[in-house]
Amino acid sequence: MPVPIRPDSRLSRIRAMSTPELLDRVTVLRDQMDDEALELLHAELASRGIGQDEIGAHLREMRFKIVQHPDGMPAVCHKCGRAAVVSRLEWHRMWGMIPLFKRQRYWCEEHS
Ligand SMILES: [Zn+2]
Repeated sequence: MPVPIRPDSRLSRIRAMSTPELLDRVTVLRDQMDDEALELLHAELASRGIGQDEIGAHLREMRFKIVQHPDGMPAVCHKCGRAAVVSRLEWHRMWGMIPLFKRQRYWCEEHS
């Protein structure tokens, strides 16, 4: 049975995001967001005093750094919600120890 989603849970998740993650989501990850999310993300950025100038600067900085999947969609960090800037072929390990197979993993600036 599906767990009902509280209407304020989305807003509280957005409020808990770092400013760079919010900026990634309204710029390079924009196509992966729905209209309601974009509205909430922009409202949260505005409440932090961040406007169109900063958003435009972030887009100019990030658009040539991001890593894309073969279909052209920007990759997201394996550890957080930021746009990935590095991709590496890494071992997938059972219980974090036993190597099973290699897989492509994506990492943001902070976690790369
Ligand atoms: Zn990350």
